[in-house]
Amino acid sequence: MSKVYFKRYEGHDNSVLSAIAKEMLEQLVEKDGHELMKNVPIKVHFGEKGNKTFVPAACYDGIIDYLEENQRETSFIETNVLYRGQRTTKENHINVAKDHGFTRVPIIIADGEMGEAVHEVEINKEYFDKVKIGAAFKDYEQIIVMSHFKGHGLAGFGGALKQLAMGFASRSGKMAQHSRMVPTVNSKKCISCGVCVNKCDVDAITIDEFAEISADKCIGCAGCIAVCPVGAIKNDWGASNFREKITEYAYGAQLNKKHLYITFMINITKDCDCVGEEMHPIAKNFGVLASVDPVALDTACINLLQEEEHVDLFNTGRESLVHAGHIHFGSDKYELIEL
Ligand code: SF4
Ligand code: SF4
Repeated sequence: MSKVYFKRYEGHDNSVLSAIAKEMLEQLVEKDGHELMKNVPIKVHFGEKGNKTFVPAACYDGIIDYLEENQRETSFIETNVLYRGQRTTKENHINVAKDHGFTRVPIIIADGEMGEAVHEVEINKEYFDKVKIGAAFKDYEQIIVMSHFKGHGLAGFGGALKQLAMGFASRSGKMAQHSRMVPTVNSKKCISCGVCVNKCDVDAITIDEFAEISADKCIGCAGCIAVCPVGAIKNDWGASNFREKITEYAYGAQLNKKHLYITFMINITKDCDCVGEEMHPIAKNFGVLASVDPVALDTACINLLQEEEHVDLFNTGRESLVHAGHIHFGSDKYELIEL
């Protein structure tokens, strides 16, 4: 059974959250005895330009303080995004990160200028034999994987697994996870407003009498699903197995590594931090959780959310955890230890 540490904090003070994250790292390293490498980058999400609910840079100060106090080298590490936004290229990505206050340590964009730097990891699982990870990750035996627990239009609610899967994947790896995921438009609902056409970065949507999506052009980013004002666009889950593919990528990203996982259950929004606009939390803040088992950690987060907020929507994301069981990745059995 895996241990998951939890410190409840329903407030919004970044200095408190930073101190709790530090306490979590101390717990894993000093009390539980997990080794801390000499050079250990911190995996973060810098937040898309315009997003206001990503985990603020100040929340990572405690982790950086701890690493510096213990003479460890560190950096922020991230990969470029799949869609056309402000974080598609290394240069723009770093500019957004700095604008959002991520200036304390160097920034590594692990998959190069445009996502071309790839490291393949052999996993031999159901959907993938190999996964494509940002090349720089191969240089590190350990990453502190800092996640923001929240929703996503297609993946559902989660934290550590999504951070490992999409967050570590190169551009081609992100494509592979999204492949065969072409949403469909309900012509009876569509009001031909054109909002989805403007949202689509790859010009996959055209409107005649109603919106139509080109399967050849669509990259399955789910942007159109999120913006349609009448809910006319849906994804065919059966065809894509997206949530299972996320699990296999997450598995590959941690294989033979000694990662440590810390998740902020704050600013819980329905959509993810890649949405470049202001969103409103749909649940209270819970605080910070940590583990060395990302499956147990995500399971604990989803359980907490459902037990205390009682909204069916929060159950989405469990398919990824079920598939983790099928591929013998982590454990859904855990002991929740409140600090
Ligand atoms: S999911 Fe929608 S927005 Fe994304 S590429 Fe496909 S059609 Fe365009
Ligand atoms: S956003 Fe929705 S309603 Fe508007 S054109 Fe696209 S599918 Fe139709």
